[in-house]
Amino acid sequence: MVVIGGGIAAHTAALYTSRASLNPIVISGIEPDQLSLTTKVENYPGFPEGILGPELVENCKKQAIKFGAKYIEENAESFSKNNKLYEIKANNQIFKARTVIIATGASARTLKIPGEDKYFGRGISTCAVCDAALFRNKEVIVIGGGDSAMEESLALHKFANKITIIHRRDKFRASKIMQDRIFKLSDKISIKWNSIVTEVLGDGKFVTSVKIKDINANNESEMKCQGVFYAIGHNPNTKIFNNLIELDEEGYIKTDKRVNTNLPGVFAAGDVQDRIYKQAITSAGAGCKAAIEAEKYIENLKAAGGY
Ligand code: NAP
Repeated sequence: MVVIGGGIAAHTAALYTSRASLNPIVISGIEPDQLSLTTKVENYPGFPEGILGPELVENCKKQAIKFGAKYIEENAESFSKNNKLYEIKANNQIFKARTVIIATGASARTLKIPGEDKYFGRGISTCAVCDAALFRNKEVIVIGGGDSAMEESLALHKFANKITIIHRRDKFRASKIMQDRIFKLSDKISIKWNSIVTEVLGDGKFVTSVKIKDINANNESEMKCQGVFYAIGHNPNTKIFNNLIELDEEGYIKTDKRVNTNLPGVFAAGDVQDRIYKQAITSAGAGCKAAIEAEKYIENLKAAGGY
């Protein structure tokens, strides 16, 4: 069997399937998963003091390896079906599997506005946890109104002089506890409601300002800043699957209650199929479900003589 992905859903699937003696190969990708880009996780049960995201995810991986999971730290480049076997290409090797768990997660969304391509990595970032220290004593903006926007702003608060959260509505969708933390830091963090960023401007090398449109007043203004942090959600990583696997209108893999995709023996778990909950604990839970279903699928194949 093959697990594709390198986040907590993938590691949990690898842990369960290795303990079930399915000898999983995990094609874990080269990009960091979302938990590895987070700071403290305070809502994963079992850690009353919280645990660092990278530590949590690394521990899960270690636990899977302890029971025999083999990791290939390469990107899966293609996914196809050849007779009864699924074939996954990674680093010029073809991995053949009777059952596959897809847990490729999701990647940060961007706005596709003028200046974005030019200044990405030159002031524009999708990860404050990674880049906040570069913005010591600088002025920055954070775009979004969810938990990620709150978390990015908290990470930046330690370094930047001034943080402005730009949100397109007049209410955050973030959890109350995260919102409260932000509202308490009004010395440095201010909020621009009902506003969208329409352009990123710079001096050719780095960001120097953004254009902001007030949706209600329908006027545009320029705001000086050196950092622009996107926290506007994520898109599921399904590019290599979209020929064979059914996706919903937003590109998430469609699964039933038992995390089956439309292909027999192919299951999906975590942010690649979950458009509602997107929590570390629900991803781990889905990875566990997928592993149990994969084990049953192999048992049924054996019983039917098709193994
Ligand atoms: P999210 O909850 O989907 O929030 C995305 C935010 O970006 C929303 O406020 C949305 O505005 C805004 N947005 C989306 N597209 C936009 C666009 N084109 N232009 C301007 N604004 C746009 O995403 P998230 O914050 O990444 O969180 C994802 C999941 O992870 C959530 O379930 C969250 O609870 C979880 N999470 C939890 C924590 C934590 O507990 N510490 C930390 C991070 C993430 P609208 O509100 O108007 O739709």
